[in-house]
Amino acid sequence: MAARKSPARKVAPKECPDCKGVGETTETVQVGTRKRRDTEHRQAALCLSCFGTGHATT
Ligand SMILES: [Zn+2]
Repeated sequence: MAARKSPARKVAPKECPDCKGVGETTETVQVGTRKRRDTEHRQAALCLSCFGTGHATT
């Protein structure tokens, strides 16, 4: 495949601002009804703004 640079006709897909192009968001999981303690545990969740594509929809 020839890696030829085409003129800037194609606009690069915009990064989803929510997940920054990753496609998933990390949420801080708070486990602590007993002990009020913040954990460093994070849960990866599919970004609902871009549905995991990482591209801004608009
Ligand atoms: Zn996203």
